[in-house]
Amino acid sequence: MYKIFADIILPVPLPRLFTYAVPWDIAENLEVGMRVIVPFGKKKFYSGVVYQLHDNEPQDYEVKEIGTVLDETPVVTITQLNFWQWIADYYMCTLGEVYKAALPAGLKLESETKIHYNTDWEKDEALTQKESQILDILQEKKVASIQELNNLSEIKNALPTVKRLLDKEALFVSEKLKDGFKPRTQKIIGISAKYQKEQMLQNAFSELSRAKKQLEVLMTLLTLIGGAHPENFAKTITRDLLKKKCDPTGAAIRQLVQKGILEETDEIISRLNQSDTQIKELHPLTSEQEKAYTEIKAQYREKDAILLHGVTSSGKTEIYIHLIEEQIKLGNQVLYLLPEIALTTQITQRLKAVFGNKLGVYHSKYSDAERVEVWDDILKKNNYQVIIGVRSSIFLPFDKLGLIIIDEEHENTYKQFDPAPRYHARDTAIVLAAMHKAKVLLGTATPSIETYYNTQIGKFGFVELFNRYEGIQMPEIITSNVREERRKKRMVTNFSPILIDEVKGALAKNEQVILFQNRRGFSPYIECNQCAWVPKCDYCDVSMTYHKHNNQLICHYCGHSYFLPRTCKACESHELETKGFGTEKIEEDVKLMLPEASVLRMDLDTARTRKAHEKIINSFQSGEVDILIGTQMISKGLDFDNVSIVGILNADSMLNYPDFRAFERSFQLMSQVSGRAGRKNKQGKVILQTTNPDNPVILDVINNNFKNHYNEQLAERELFKYPPFYRLVYFTVRHKNNRLAEQVADYFTNYLRSIFDSRVIGPQEPPVSKIQNWHLRKVMVKIEKGASLKKVKELINQAIVASLSHPAFKAAQIQIDVDPM
Ligand code: ADP
Ligand code: ZN
Ligand code: ZN
Repeated sequence: MYKIFADIILPVPLPRLFTYAVPWDIAENLEVGMRVIVPFGKKKFYSGVVYQLHDNEPQDYEVKEIGTVLDETPVVTITQLNFWQWIADYYMCTLGEVYKAALPAGLKLESETKIHYNTDWEKDEALTQKESQILDILQEKKVASIQELNNLSEIKNALPTVKRLLDKEALFVSEKLKDGFKPRTQKIIGISAKYQKEQMLQNAFSELSRAKKQLEVLMTLLTLIGGAHPENFAKTITRDLLKKKCDPTGAAIRQLVQKGILEETDEIISRLNQSDTQIKELHPLTSEQEKAYTEIKAQYREKDAILLHGVTSSGKTEIYIHLIEEQIKLGNQVLYLLPEIALTTQITQRLKAVFGNKLGVYHSKYSDAERVEVWDDILKKNNYQVIIGVRSSIFLPFDKLGLIIIDEEHENTYKQFDPAPRYHARDTAIVLAAMHKAKVLLGTATPSIETYYNTQIGKFGFVELFNRYEGIQMPEIITSNVREERRKKRMVTNFSPILIDEVKGALAKNEQVILFQNRRGFSPYIECNQCAWVPKCDYCDVSMTYHKHNNQLICHYCGHSYFLPRTCKACESHELETKGFGTEKIEEDVKLMLPEASVLRMDLDTARTRKAHEKIINSFQSGEVDILIGTQMISKGLDFDNVSIVGILNADSMLNYPDFRAFERSFQLMSQVSGRAGRKNKQGKVILQTTNPDNPVILDVINNNFKNHYNEQLAERELFKYPPFYRLVYFTVRHKNNRLAEQVADYFTNYLRSIFDSRVIGPQEPPVSKIQNWHLRKVMVKIEKGASLKKVKELINQAIVASLSHPAFKAAQIQIDVDPM
């Protein structure tokens, strides 16, 4: 008979698919994109996605059968699978890795430890009584969880015994897979079918004449469903409501259900907030916005992607809203990408007001169940036509995508660093759009060099907005030379006199202030004044950041923490001093200097959850808070309308960062933070503290001269062979042993050099050369833009395989980052 096979994507780090036989009884209903459970190796089970069905029987190994099919219809579309394949090829990772990143955890499966009896085991030593007992049970039952074994054996804790038997290989563990996502339900109450007649109801009343409480519940129910008329009898309400009205303990309701008078059922409810927001009309566009809007649509006739370069508050978002509205009318889906969860709150409020329940939100701060619901909704084409989301939302099962908006396209948080796939959501979204024949709009006030370059060579369209809405002027930027001020001893902690004066002035007029410091914690490090000892992380080669509120030193790379020691660990002196400053220190200083002002801090430590984010943004927006202190989290697209002063506390730390993008990023950060200043009818002011007011990047920020900044950066990129002229691939070679890390790195680099010659740079010890006990080396390859990527990647793979299969380097790892940020 003709046999069918399925290639399955499994979440294992092997660069291939796995072929399984499809048993005849499921063959008829199995489709590409469904999830299945398959055995893997000797003892394991995994859940995976069907990638392909075919009849080529693998010749070189024995094929196992698919265990169970989890879906009745595919949860992943063919377009998605093609998209996954593109990501795996381009970013040099496995389909399994893409699968792991793409599906919300609720659609992947959870494991629960189950113990099996190993029928191949041969007893060759005496067993204890407990061991025999456990073995007997399992020989009979074949499989049981540890909990079940505890109960059956009456051994209080069977785990140690099980562990010994596992060591002897008499038992083995398998993962019992269960569906992680269960829909949330609520209890619904109504009159049972039998009692939905007037006569029966009469009978019920007489029957209950002595059960006063139950009678009251029945009467209340009748009122709530609209009165005791036959046309209402089939109506239902929630049990919670009924309980709240008349039966807090629920006892009488239970009795009525037992008597068969009332009936209780489960109803699936959506976890997503379906509140019916009042739908508002779109704002009419101003004439400048209207012109840009028309221009965008005209350019779409020839270009698939357009950059909308508009100063902050020029109304880019208003233009997006008009474009989305148009797509909705066409029945298309729109994806609105944002770089950061912090931004979704404000944009969600604005879009919800216009698109109501057509708007879905998708990001990791939502619970997994909520994400599965968005996924399902889009798959079944129920409600959502507009999705707001961060980078992972490119993985949703769209099928009629008309437009992708990539807001704040320059942000590097669009790039996933760890784990693989190390994809750039902006670049990947452009590929996704092409697969759907959808258009792309990239928006920003500070374009990335790459994107702007694409407009210059004609790959992208280009539209500009020069003016802020309602003619609010661009802020005045004043530099304050902190080196001078320090010398004159005029600094108060980290504040120059002009910054203090301006902040006080704003507060006196009931205006708000934003203070920006790109570093969280209290101080970046602690140093002994006697011997210069600096506390470092035990696992990473990096100094510990001091957090004052809990008196702890925390490693920002791995999270390791311990209490600040009382004395220096090297010389035992008591003179441990905090060095540098983070947001926490700024907060403390401000509170001491301006005790009347109400102050909030927004950084990774205070805004870890969605609720915490929203709370901070809302209380600043509502005016409860006078001063907001934050890291780059506050620089991004947030729109507050009463901020007159912005302080940048230390511009130098950004400019001096050792990276070819340091100037680009500093320009973006400073311009974006400055863009928060300014209100209707009043120009805002930015105080920029630096030791080097003549730095060309600072001058470009002050003059709002993007073009000059771009030209200078582009010239440097060309000279030093960086993007957009060259493509970079970074490699991180890792080993737990430092000497071996160095040896693999040398071996690998030499191999690469034999192929790519002078295009290879490294190996280098990175600034942080040890993270979580892994010793790291960096290697970089620069590839000319015209080169065949496919060929390049084949050769790179060769070098990796050669290095890792070398017998001395078994425990080494090589991570690949294509287009690193
Ligand atoms: P951007 O996205 O360029 O930063 P926004 O779209 O957020 O700019 O606009 C800044 C502010 O001006 C917002 O509060 C927005 O509601 C308001 N605004 C911009 N354009 C209009 C318009 N045409 N009608 C009404 N309000 C507008
Ligand atoms: Zn660490
Ligand atoms: Zn010391």
